[in-house]
Amino acid sequence: MFSRLSTNLTRRVALTARYGCRSITTHSQLPEEHKMIYDMCRKFADEELAPNAGEWDKKHEFPTDAIAQLAELGLMGINVPESMGGVGLDALSYAIVMEEISRGCASTGVICSAHNSLYLYPVVEFGTPEQHEKWVTPFAGGSESLQIGCFGLSEPGNGSDAGAATTTATRDGDDWIINGTKAWITNAYEASAAVVFATTDKSLKHKGISAFIVPNDAEGFSLGAKEDKLGIRASSTANLIMENVRISGDNLLGEEGQGFKIAMQTLDGGRIGVAGQGLGIASAAIDCAVNYALERTAFGKPIANFQMIQHKISEMVLARDSARLLTWRAAQMKDAGENYTREAAMAKLAASEAATMCAHQSIQILGGMGYVTEMPAERHYRDARITEIYEGTSEVQHLVISNDVLKEYKSSY
Ligand SMILES: Cc1cc2nc3c(=O)[nH]c(=O)nc-3n(C[C@H](O)[C@H](O)[C@H](O)COP(=O)(O)OP(=O)(O)OC[C@H]3O[C@@H](n4cnc5c(N)ncnc54)[C@H](O)[C@@H]3O)c2cc1C
Repeated sequence: MFSRLSTNLTRRVALTARYGCRSITTHSQLPEEHKMIYDMCRKFADEELAPNAGEWDKKHEFPTDAIAQLAELGLMGINVPESMGGVGLDALSYAIVMEEISRGCASTGVICSAHNSLYLYPVVEFGTPEQHEKWVTPFAGGSESLQIGCFGLSEPGNGSDAGAATTTATRDGDDWIINGTKAWITNAYEASAAVVFATTDKSLKHKGISAFIVPNDAEGFSLGAKEDKLGIRASSTANLIMENVRISGDNLLGEEGQGFKIAMQTLDGGRIGVAGQGLGIASAAIDCAVNYALERTAFGKPIANFQMIQHKISEMVLARDSARLLTWRAAQMKDAGENYTREAAMAKLAASEAATMCAHQSIQILGGMGYVTEMPAERHYRDARITEIYEGTSEVQHLVISNDVLKEYKSSY
């Protein structure tokens, strides 16, 4: 029913990205190829993800089969060039895929997002041809068994202040020896490699941070306990603990001292993915609330007839759709090769806040039924919250946006 995205489709999407510069405001205006991706992901989410998401959440169970199916579709290597085993789609496609997958299952959304934008993106962008062959192709669904990747930036002592990394990498001949702990790492338990940021020259502060590809079976590499989380519970989150982990000099990603730049550039793209997650959770919450409001009666009428319920519905759809426009704008700017740091932060901030608000109001519309696990509304509420925290908290997004605005004004004086 679903087949790996065809070579032709891939090429056409790439062309659309390059030449189709108009701002797209609704799904009906999407270029034909993006509509196909949207339809395919929507169907997949409805048939394969949504019916199982509650059970995976309850059991904290990694959706192994669904991830394998996503790999078959090419969605575990969405933006990876075909020459490296991916399907080479653009950032707008990525935003659409993330929204639809997360609408079906927010945990599957974050697994897919961390793998695609936090692990694969920096290795594709900054890796050598040898690194692409070893650390991209088997991870992009281009070989028989899929390998999963993760991204180790945060530490127990610093999250928002990523430049304060205490993990160190010290040269030993041609090798590097890594010591330190990375905290809260998505996909930690399933990953076979991590992009890890470590300080190679403390005196240079954030300019002394370098990025490394660390195989998770290296000697001295271990995992902390799985975090017991509020939401996205089918994805694993754990510490990566590195004690005298020796890796080859070939595993340095980019240049020495380039790590902070790699991390920030990766997070810009990652924020489009988190925005997509937020949109998907918001949409799932809206679907649940509107369907319920049409069926539930009170005072002899469907509750959808009450203006206060209608107001909630309009607020939810307004927030979700506004955030979607911001997300698609950021994605289109990325595809056009423009600087999109501010726009990605705006998209992530708006979509994550829309997700939280929609999930909150969805529970309110369901009343008591919103509070029990029989209905998915409580899961959406728990899943939504993380989108305001990872890949930069909402406070950090405000800083990114305002710093960019102030810089722009100052430069015009
Ligand atoms: C489920 C989950 C999955 C995650 N996955 C990953 C992953 O795969 N890889 C990874 O590297 N990290 C991951 N993280 C870590 C995540 O990115 C951090 O938790 C996040 O960046 C916040 O860092 P922190 O928790 O240290 O909070 P802190 O930085 O300690 O912030 C605490 C509070 O202070 C505020 N604050 C901090 N600095 C400022 C400031 N300058 N101005 C105003 N307010 C400020 C914050 O906004 C927040 O409200 C994950 C976290 C979770 C919970």
